[in-house]
Amino acid sequence: MFIDTHVHLDEFDNLEEILNRARGVGVRGFVSVGYDIQSSKFSYSVSLKYNDVYAILGIHPHSAGECTDKFLGWICSVKDSKKVLGIGEIGLDYYRNLSPKDIQLEAFEKQLSLAQDLELPVSLHIRNGYRDAFDILKRYKVKGVFHCYSGGLHFLEEALSFGFFIGFDGPVTFHNARELIEVVERCPLDRILLETDAPYLAPEPYRGRRNEPSYLIYIARRIAEIKEIDLGELSEVTRKNTIICFPRYAS
Ligand SMILES: [Zn+2]
Repeated sequence: MFIDTHVHLDEFDNLEEILNRARGVGVRGFVSVGYDIQSSKFSYSVSLKYNDVYAILGIHPHSAGECTDKFLGWICSVKDSKKVLGIGEIGLDYYRNLSPKDIQLEAFEKQLSLAQDLELPVSLHIRNGYRDAFDILKRYKVKGVFHCYSGGLHFLEEALSFGFFIGFDGPVTFHNARELIEVVERCPLDRILLETDAPYLAPEPYRGRRNEPSYLIYIARRIAEIKEIDLGELSEVTRKNTIICFPRYAS
């Protein structure tokens, strides 16, 4: 049994079918992550509808302009729901730079500050911005996960030094993922979280196609193989890790 700690459920028209297919292969929990106002609201409402669905609410760096006080006020209005696990996905994306850098930095800091005030963990999307992200994180008392970690070996130790978890996704299954495999080898087992980021980043053997949470099993198998442990042990450790990272996750 595995938990998909990062999926975008708003991207699926056939949600019922997608969730059932994943449950059928042993995915026991789904964390639906917002990336703009609409997907955050969707994640919140879908978390109220299904027992095994949870929500993370926030504005992705690509949509940083949507991070208004009104939106942050909305998060505050639903913050007490046990289904709201944290703030995300928030961060910095200097790879695609779809929002100006200063707007990204402002939205990131506003949401970190909110997470700190609400004592909620964060799910971070960082691409080509690890140096800036670390410098900023030093000023906040927050914990969470580096979602779909892409900082390579170079930033791993520092990422771990914040007490954060490291999220692994489809790319660990790619044949050319040499450095990422070494990252998995070096990342302590008690810091690993499993994510699909579906519908993006489908693992092998579905690379390039549309991802879905039932494919989490391919990511889990690959990590178990790299770590030389059995799937049962990986399931148990990652369940504990999920609860430590997101204390409101209860199952
Ligand atoms: Zn995502």
